[in-house]
Amino acid sequence: MTPLTRRETACTLLDGQRIAAEIRAEVATEVAQLVGQGGRRPGLAVLIVGADPASRVYVGAKTRACDKAGMIGRTIELEATVSEAELEAQIDRFNDDDTVDGILIQLPLPAGLGNRRLLERIDPAKDVDGFHPYNIGQLWLGEPGFEPATPSGVIELLRRYDIALAGKHAVIVGRSAIVGKPMAGLLLRHHCTVSICHSRTRDLAEICRQADILVAAVGRTAFLGPDHVKPGAVVIDVGMNRITDPAEVERLYPGDRKRRATLARRGEVLVGDIDFTRVSAIASAITPVPRGVGPLTVAMLLVNTLRASRLRQGLK
Ligand code: NDP
Repeated sequence: MTPLTRRETACTLLDGQRIAAEIRAEVATEVAQLVGQGGRRPGLAVLIVGADPASRVYVGAKTRACDKAGMIGRTIELEATVSEAELEAQIDRFNDDDTVDGILIQLPLPAGLGNRRLLERIDPAKDVDGFHPYNIGQLWLGEPGFEPATPSGVIELLRRYDIALAGKHAVIVGRSAIVGKPMAGLLLRHHCTVSICHSRTRDLAEICRQADILVAAVGRTAFLGPDHVKPGAVVIDVGMNRITDPAEVERLYPGDRKRRATLARRGEVLVGDIDFTRVSAIASAITPVPRGVGPLTVAMLLVNTLRASRLRQGLK
């Protein structure tokens, strides 16, 4: 097959921000209908432990999005010194509270707190993050349950851009419980042939080059470049890394004034795991960072919360 070049195939920018706005508007309409029919407003409770500034920003975005969609977002912030027993008691209160449809614990938790035990304490019917073993099991069994928001956002993005999945070879770099593994389960469910790569994978570039759909969830700046990408592949960048070095910004985004201005204003620039400038020259479609996968995570959390609420209110 003749290799594709940029001139032969323009690269589609997969606009996660736009798709997320669409999804959020749809959720808001459904919430209004639910309330109009005498239903209860869906409620999301977020538990945040310690004052990690990045976590605070994410939690703020989630609860604000809830409010905008007509749901009730509530945050309980606990000191980093909180005991596991107190956290368990708080989760139990949310489990027992009928106005709470979705519960999420903002990760990471401070060291010493047992993430797994706490996640397992959440009522699976309120586990809108999809991290409870019951929901993880349902995902791999192909049964209904809550799917983690980031990978399900990726699937929704691909669906809304009419990117067919059946029979495609999907390669995921990263095997975390919150992104890589559920991403693999969902792509498998959509009939992809799936390869999962990680830090011990040999010949990473060679495997990545086989991908029709390449998903990067590594957490390393511009880790995958053109050598990892088959011309014409669809490239999904889940990574969110921050760079502060002007020379690095210039190397990754030569002549990009907007990013230089962001660096000057904020002291950092958000970049993905993909070398966007060079990979977008050969890919058929790619998600940018920011405005790619990130906004979809919040939107899918709303979708899950609405679904949890409908189910808990006895609606389909
Ligand atoms: P983790 O650190 O939990 O997982 C990273 C994965 O990358 C691991 O499986 C690791 O392999 C693999 N990896 C590390 N180094 C290499 C290497 N040299 N070669 C191949 N694989 C490697 O990260 P997360 O999954 O939580 O997050 C990944 C990225 O996605 C981060 O940048 C994070 O910020 C971002 N993220 C974005 C979200 C969004 O909404 N857009 C949501 C969640 C995360 P191993 O298992 O062998 O250690």
